[in-house]
Amino acid sequence: MPAMDGAALAPSARKGVTVLGATGSIGLSTLDLVSRHPDRFRVDTLTANSNVAELARLAVDHGAALAVVADPDRYRDLKDALSGTGVRAAAGPEALVEAAQGDSEFVMAGIVGSAGLAPTLAAVRRGADVGLANKECLVCAGDIVMAEVARAGGKLLPVDSEHNAIFQVFETERAAQVERIILTASGGPFRTWTREAMGEATPEAAVAHPNWSMGAKISVDSATMMNKGLEMIEAFHLFPVEPAQIDVLVHPQSVIHSMVEYVDGSTLAQLGSPDMRTPIASCLAWPERIHAPSPKLDLAALGQLTFERPDFERFPALRLARYCLESGSEAATVLNAANEIAVAAFLDRRLGFLQIAETVERALETVGRQTTSTLDEVVALDAEARRVARAIIEKAGH
Ligand code: NDP
Repeated sequence: MPAMDGAALAPSARKGVTVLGATGSIGLSTLDLVSRHPDRFRVDTLTANSNVAELARLAVDHGAALAVVADPDRYRDLKDALSGTGVRAAAGPEALVEAAQGDSEFVMAGIVGSAGLAPTLAAVRRGADVGLANKECLVCAGDIVMAEVARAGGKLLPVDSEHNAIFQVFETERAAQVERIILTASGGPFRTWTREAMGEATPEAAVAHPNWSMGAKISVDSATMMNKGLEMIEAFHLFPVEPAQIDVLVHPQSVIHSMVEYVDGSTLAQLGSPDMRTPIASCLAWPERIHAPSPKLDLAALGQLTFERPDFERFPALRLARYCLESGSEAATVLNAANEIAVAAFLDRRLGFLQIAETVERALETVGRQTTSTLDEVVALDAEARRVARAIIEKAGH
């Protein structure tokens, strides 16, 4: 029986929701929550990259008005799959942007990679409330995205569990009294592995995260700890802190999702089971709260929570991300793009696990320093970094 919070709303008062990346891990969790609160939400538009069968099924099941597939070659398949259902079909990158420009009050940015930048920015620019899971778009173009958030006046609600935790305990009006923010990290599946063992790591081992069930790319990022690096940069854009105020703490149980330390020695934390439906629910319902089916915490059963310092030697991606955080947004654009190419090559078995960070480091050394102040310049730099990373991988004979 779906949980209902508060009085039922008239259909017109329900919050319209568009889910970019509906077929992914974040997208499915979002739809799970939305379907538990039919009195609060209606589904307007769902998008995917190429998984037409799943997209069509979700669109019909959730009563969406429009389904969009990013790959234009899949348009005919999507149209056929939706024939007679009343759900409209569209395809291609422009259709993805138009989907984000619709009139949904809430847009979940759940596409993986900087492919999500254009539609996320489109939703931000029209002042929608945006649930931001797609951290790569802030790492790639954080200055531009945040300037548009400020201009358009919508709310950017962090979905990433760490940033959602900080969002919940960061007292914006007392930002000057924040000493530091502490991003917790599970340490990933290779937390206790030696570098030699990591050298042999397979994609299967890398995506087998101990605590979280996630898409392949972020799972590999967790294994290299690049995920925490991307999150440091994401945190810098989301919260009014300096790079030196952003710390990482390994916490293998993933119960404390992050913390904010204030000048008086108070440290505020948000805790919860490792289930993305809690931070997603907090974004969907913001500024209210709705019931989520995530298991409630049983701290007595857990017994203890443990902490370790991050190891920048075994996990060089953290060091690279720290360098980019301190050297500015252009380096972060290169870091993100090269990482996307290297992770894809690793998942494709064309690159070893340790070569992911090596490829990113070489790309950072190779791509010349340049200034990016417009979106076109960021997109050009992203493309250049991808080209360089591909060449590094090919030259290494992978
Ligand atoms: P998944 O790989 O599970 O899903 C990705 C989604 O994006 C799918 O719907 C996919 O469509 C779509 N997609 C992929 N490539 C493109 C493209 N080029 N153009 C348009 N759509 C595309 O990823 P996750 O749900 O795990 O992650 C999504 C984002 O959320 C990432 O940025 C990740 O870092 C972030 N995040 C995820 C968490 C998690 O628990 N999963 C936690 C915190 C953040 P298709 O199915 O057709 O390929």
